[in-house]
Amino acid sequence: MEELKNIIRDVPDFPKKGIVFKDITTLLADAKSFQRMVDLLAHRYVGERIDKVVGVEARGFIIGAALAYKLGAGVVLVRKPGKLPSETFSKSYELEYGTDTLEIHRDAIKPGEKILIADDVLATGGTMAAVVDMVKTLGGEIVDCCFMAELDFLQGRSRLRGGPSL
Ligand code: 5GP
Repeated sequence: MEELKNIIRDVPDFPKKGIVFKDITTLLADAKSFQRMVDLLAHRYVGERIDKVVGVEARGFIIGAALAYKLGAGVVLVRKPGKLPSETFSKSYELEYGTDTLEIHRDAIKPGEKILIADDVLATGGTMAAVVDMVKTLGGEIVDCCFMAELDFLQGRSRLRGGPSL
């Protein structure tokens, strides 16, 4: 676990001054670390019914797809506005400055399906709280939310009722 933490690179002042960005591309690029991360996360859900893994654009697609493959689940994309071709459901949520919007295909999740949501990093929790809301609106039953890393000082988990796995 410590090895995985250490391979994630800290990039100071990205995307703006004062922010230390957790750069997970270093972990993705290392074959053993990526495999270990996917195996560690997937291990939590072995034996559980997971119908679909929802990946959040863009780095959540990578970990989400790998987990779905391991768990024998489908992949659902949550994307930035205007990227999904069919009928979408949109959700706007607050950022530190302004708002952001995410979209999901309305027919991507059927009522009662068991859903795992995956993203790379949990920061304030605003993104994941919005995705949780979208999945629930479509009738999905959330099994868990999982991440490759957490910025725990931002206390994002407090926004996710029940608490995510990390
Ligand atoms: P939140 O909504 O929890 O504040 O931010 C989480 C979203 O922003 C995730 O989709 C994540 O990809 C991105 N994010 C925020 N901070 C970081 C960071 O330090 N590193 C990476 N890789 N993503 C981040």
